[in-house]
Amino acid sequence: MPGSPIEEIKNRLDIVEVIGSYIKLQKAGANYKALCPFHSEKTPSFFVSPSRQIWHCFGCSRGGDIFRFVMEIEGVEFGDALRILAQKAGVELKPRSPQWQKFKTERQRLYEICELSTKFFEKQLAGSPNGKRAKAYLLKRGISEESIKKWRLGWAPNQWRALVDFLLSRGYKKGEIVRAGVAIEKENTVYDRFRGRIIFPIFDLNSQVIGFSGREFLGLGQKAKYINTPNTLLYDKSRALYGLDKAKMEIRKRDYCILVEGNVDLIMASQAGDENTVATCGTALTPYQLRVLKRYSNNLLVAFDMDIAGEAATKRGIELAQSLGFDIRVVRLPYGKDPAEIILDNKKDWKAAIEGAVSIFDFYFDSAFGQADSQTPEGRKKILGILLPLIKRIPNKIEQSDWIQKLSKRLRAREEDIREELGKIKSDGRMSHEDSKESCPPVKKTRREMLEERLALLALKFPQDVAIISDKDLELFSPQIRELLSALKKGKIPKSEVFNILSFRAEMEKLEKKDVQSEMNFCINSIRSLNLKEAIDELYLEIKRAEEKGDLKRVEQLTERVHHLIQYGKENLS
Ligand SMILES: [Zn+2]
Repeated sequence: MPGSPIEEIKNRLDIVEVIGSYIKLQKAGANYKALCPFHSEKTPSFFVSPSRQIWHCFGCSRGGDIFRFVMEIEGVEFGDALRILAQKAGVELKPRSPQWQKFKTERQRLYEICELSTKFFEKQLAGSPNGKRAKAYLLKRGISEESIKKWRLGWAPNQWRALVDFLLSRGYKKGEIVRAGVAIEKENTVYDRFRGRIIFPIFDLNSQVIGFSGREFLGLGQKAKYINTPNTLLYDKSRALYGLDKAKMEIRKRDYCILVEGNVDLIMASQAGDENTVATCGTALTPYQLRVLKRYSNNLLVAFDMDIAGEAATKRGIELAQSLGFDIRVVRLPYGKDPAEIILDNKKDWKAAIEGAVSIFDFYFDSAFGQADSQTPEGRKKILGILLPLIKRIPNKIEQSDWIQKLSKRLRAREEDIREELGKIKSDGRMSHEDSKESCPPVKKTRREMLEERLALLALKFPQDVAIISDKDLELFSPQIRELLSALKKGKIPKSEVFNILSFRAEMEKLEKKDVQSEMNFCINSIRSLNLKEAIDELYLEIKRAEEKGDLKRVEQLTERVHHLIQYGKENLS
């Protein structure tokens, strides 16, 4: 489709740049490689070809163009990938164009509702009497006018249907409004979820609003201090990371990420120049969030309360990050103060705290030794009890060894004794690397698909050997492979994305030159056997139907044919 937005986007965007904005790519000859973001692996089998403008993973068999990549990594449908990439490419999709309408999905409607709701809340903050009071409060806490705009803060009026009525008047349906998470449906009535609250919109990685966090204000509205959008088609609590859309490039540039707990902490830190900050909003970091963070940096600076003896959710997230190989430092904050307060009091104190961040193990050591007396046997036991499980979880053996050494020095104990104690600790398993990665199973293929693919790869790599495939053999294959093989027999390569990917794979895969023809023959014969088996299965089904009808003559005829095919197989296929 020349001139279509799809072609235009492909022309304007470079696949290396698009994929490189999600994962770290390494140059590998004419191509680029990376650890596959879709399956768990230790050596890269994910390749990007700039010349072909495609990608392929040799581990899980996923592959395609930039649209396919965005669909897979963002977990969206084609229409959404189109919109995301159009935005990146600066290609305007006309809202009334057929392409747009065709791909306008439920997601798209929900995005629109979130965007309109954000505008509504922003307007309320600027204009309504209570909104103005909320704004004055934000300014008093140190959040600047500029930050209010940047983070699109708003005010949800303390009414039952202010937002719902507004959205209905804009043509959205009740169901959609509820599914977008901004309204609640109860006993046939629909009402606003956020009432009398300061609104912090939550953005996805493309800075589109996907949900909201509402902070209680002046005792208006409901009791809970914060309420959030529930999980929706767009918003998933375990995936969204507040502020990452605005912080990601800065995190990559500075090669570290500051983690704070609250959204006000984040806004204040960002305002103070630390734009590489994201907020966990009080929940434990999930494997998904950590994997996303890893695209940008391996270094985390934790700026929230870390009680090492406690079982806080935040601590679990940090332990998980450790087991995933993040390098973690801890910012020591003055007791009982959060980053927002420190920054408001004196920006310099904040900067000093960031600069004075210590490695997580120094932090653990200091806390453990601060909690018990290392001179007494009980105290030593307590210290070991706190530190050994943490040391056990260090994935890097050399690093682990370092800490054992440090511990032995500080306790004045023999290293071997500490190692022995360490050996007694069972790992609780919950932090193991395998558990923490959501596994993404490889794309399932039928035996026929695998055989045809193998044949196609061999044919592309060794086109001079294609001659052994007879014209009659061609009928054995599915139309696509037939098209490819018959073109290759004529010395051509047909143009299409599927063949483009196959050519790339043939280029990359190590295929032995010596037994090409016998391997081709093996594939052809195996496909022939498969065809035969399928034909026989089909006949058996027909026999069953004929038996049910009592058509004995037909049963006899069909049985005859089955015997015939089996005989043929015995003679021609081994
Ligand atoms: Zn893969």
